[in-house]
Amino acid sequence: MTNKSELEKLNAEIIQCRKCARLVAWREEVARVKRRAYIDQEYWGKPVPGFGDPNARVVVVGLAPGAHGSNRTGRNFTGHASGGFLYPALNRAGFANQALAESRSDGLILNDIYITASARCAPPDNKPSPEELNNCQPYLERDIQILKPKVIVCLGRIAFERILRIYSARNSAWKFGHGALYQLESGEWILCSYHPSQQNTLTGKLTVKMFDDIWEKAKELLR
Ligand code: SF4
Repeated sequence: MTNKSELEKLNAEIIQCRKCARLVAWREEVARVKRRAYIDQEYWGKPVPGFGDPNARVVVVGLAPGAHGSNRTGRNFTGHASGGFLYPALNRAGFANQALAESRSDGLILNDIYITASARCAPPDNKPSPEELNNCQPYLERDIQILKPKVIVCLGRIAFERILRIYSARNSAWKFGHGALYQLESGEWILCSYHPSQQNTLTGKLTVKMFDDIWEKAKELLR
């Protein structure tokens, strides 16, 4: 089986998932009620599968879909301000063919990068519970098993902690911080970045330059 067909099989399974009652209710309620600006659109309203190059050497792990972003469009970081910060950066770094990410049919193609998440369903207040993260972890594990990435970019502390759990990496010196970089015994690199949420980008906690440096570092680690 190729990576592509394995990922397609996994994603077909993810889309059907209803393990977390609270998140299923929330994602479907948001999709039914909608935001006024998107009232004429059909929301995705399901778990959001991974997206990107099936032969990627870089895996990007986010937190969870935004209620009116990915939960509306069905693709990670699409139709949302955080994607408006992420995809232009990936485009500048050569990982994406375009900066625009507004729908699943916008022509966006990723090169050598695959984007996945710690939880696949939009949570209230962008906060999945520990139990929900545990329910969803096997999907992230399978993404990683299939892709066998060389570099894992963790967008935010929750993604970082999830990756440490998956790899059973228990080094007390390993702390989350923007630009923090660690290498697992098995050779994979874990590169940390602040999440490109508006909370970080509008306050200047995460600048364009800081984010560009992350993707340059990721490229350097692939050489
Ligand atoms: S968050 Fe993950 S485990 Fe929970 S319902 Fe969604 S896809 Fe399933």
